[in-house]
Amino acid sequence: MNVDDVTSITVLGAGNMGHGIAEVAALAGYDVVLRDIKDEFVQKGYDQIEWSLNKLAEKDRLSQDDADAALARVSTAVDLGEAVADADVVIEAVPEKMSIKKEVYTELEEHAPDNTVFATNTSSLSITELSEVTERPERFCGMHFFNPPVRMDLVEVISGAHTADETLELVEDLAEAMGKTPVRVRKDSPGFIVNRILVPLMNEAAWIVHSGDATMAEVDSTTKYDMGLPMGSFELADYVGIDVGYHVLEYMHEVLGDAYEPCPLLSEKVEEGDLGQKTGKGFYDYEDGEGAEVPHDEGSEAVRNRLLGVMANEVAGLVGNDVADPAAIDRAVKLGGRFPDGPAKMADNAGIATLVGALDNLHDETGEERYEAVQYLRDLAQSGEGFYGGEEESDEAPAFDDISVEVRDGIGHITLDRPHRLNTISIELMDELSEALDDLAEDDEVRAVLLTGAGDRAFSAGADVTSIAAGGGDAVSGVEISRKGQQTFGKLEELDKPVIAGIDGFCLGGGMELAMCADLRIATERSELGQPEHNLGLLPGWGGTVRLQRIVGTGRAKEIIFSADRYDAETMADYGFINEVVENDDFEEQAFEYAKRFAQGPPVAQRYTKRAMHNGWEDTDSGLEVEAQAFGLLFTTSDLMEGIAAFTSDRDPEFTGE
Ligand code: NAD
Repeated sequence: MNVDDVTSITVLGAGNMGHGIAEVAALAGYDVVLRDIKDEFVQKGYDQIEWSLNKLAEKDRLSQDDADAALARVSTAVDLGEAVADADVVIEAVPEKMSIKKEVYTELEEHAPDNTVFATNTSSLSITELSEVTERPERFCGMHFFNPPVRMDLVEVISGAHTADETLELVEDLAEAMGKTPVRVRKDSPGFIVNRILVPLMNEAAWIVHSGDATMAEVDSTTKYDMGLPMGSFELADYVGIDVGYHVLEYMHEVLGDAYEPCPLLSEKVEEGDLGQKTGKGFYDYEDGEGAEVPHDEGSEAVRNRLLGVMANEVAGLVGNDVADPAAIDRAVKLGGRFPDGPAKMADNAGIATLVGALDNLHDETGEERYEAVQYLRDLAQSGEGFYGGEEESDEAPAFDDISVEVRDGIGHITLDRPHRLNTISIELMDELSEALDDLAEDDEVRAVLLTGAGDRAFSAGADVTSIAAGGGDAVSGVEISRKGQQTFGKLEELDKPVIAGIDGFCLGGGMELAMCADLRIATERSELGQPEHNLGLLPGWGGTVRLQRIVGTGRAKEIIFSADRYDAETMADYGFINEVVENDDFEEQAFEYAKRFAQGPPVAQRYTKRAMHNGWEDTDSGLEVEAQAFGLLFTTSDLMEGIAAFTSDRDPEFTGE
């Protein structure tokens, strides 16, 4: 069977994950049967799907017709035989208990057609053990979605000991057909990839505090602001549920050994039922207290190296045992854990030898033998190489992390590539953008630049607040950060070629300030634009106060900035900010076609037009002088001859920039 043969999917369990997976499958066009053990449970799951689809339609993420059609593809069942009679693939999302799952698979084997593929959404149980309950272990694998499935892009596809390659390929293709990014986990290893990194991180954070080496505030400040992770370690544990991480940890402890012994701090919380946000209290108090308040400036290098050391060691464990390679691990953790950078890359940046040193120090200073660097990591440190190889750029590591650049048909296309963080702008992204713009400026093949955001939710939702706050959070660093954005974005204005911003989704704050520096802007109907800085008590600090008024006039600029409201694309077109509003579908292609028009324009005339307009804004005489000189220069170009020849013979000109 290959993915084109799949038409019908059954989801077992209509809970948290089951209903979300069913929704994703229905949205991708599959017929879905949602099954639970009681009518009321299955109905509740169905209602949740309906609610969520309507919400997506309300937010213009799809049309109401498409939402209705997706819902019409979902049917419900309690009777298992009826539920799986036509299933090509069964995705199981029943409670995380070996005994329950085994019972379900025994019964399922009796009812399902022989060639149906079974995929389990388990977070921590052994895929191999589950597969052995059935008579089709080769057609059985893990398909681990993240919560909530509708929003999280990652799916870990896990091989059990008996899984056939064709099964993994089919399930990966299926994940892709559902609009997800599959990452293969080659072996049935506890925690798979994402939890294998995140759970020991949580445990180590707890051990650091338990042993009195640092406070919770110091650990969370380090994690969030020095390492740039989306949340502090304890904040994350509270968010996910301390019990959830704890159960995965227990399983790791059982299978992988004492290095994964749960810290008493975690067991106490679980015993007391203080499980995090969902119970109102965990490491932080969400009911009677202020919730997670993480200070900006209590980070410590020792804590940072210890936590990075643990992550590096877990990556090494996975790579050394051939569970996954560094690039797959980084991709998975960026998508599943919303990390700005993958753990392998972060470890390389910090230096593997430094991190091994930090783990060894822990050992020497405390005599503790709980957690030690594995041989694979030591070998790497010894060789002076990182996960991605030595000094020279390896094939595996992409040239940029936060953006991607492609040159095609005369267009240098820069994609802001942090879809998991709504393409928000970090310091690193700015550095990469700056470098990419320098390259494109030099590249004669490039006649126009197109900027878009990855994914279909945002061009850019603004500044990445954690990355920016990591810069120091004081007045001096604030001035520097503002200047950096002003200058980096300003490169778009200074670039000698037309720049087009292609906006689909959020274009807010810093994202809008970036778009302001483009020469032209097109946006999809569903886009939302705005300068929300006043809501935060800030001002649009990457050029917004100065540049916006040049495009929309002072009155409108003040309205946009002072109101801090979000505006739809049509209104922004009326204000003159958007040059053209386009349909939501096939946006990339439309943006590309739009940019192509300008890539075919006369390069020398374009260059001097930009310069004359830029100079002339502030200083009329200077602009007029650039214009006059350029006018003279253009008389000497062959492009002018070409332009006139094309005009008189009524054909399109072919400009070369000569
Ligand atoms: P849940 O408790 O919300 O849902 C489980 C559902 O399964 C319930 O509706 C229950 O009535 C139903 N059920 C029980 N026995 C059944 C049976 N025999 N046949 C069909 N349905 C049955 O749990 P959940 O959070 O959705 O988790 C489901 C699975 O997904 C677990 O394996 C869990 O580890 C995994 N998972 C959970 C998350 C998460 O964040 N919640 C993330 C990834 C994976």
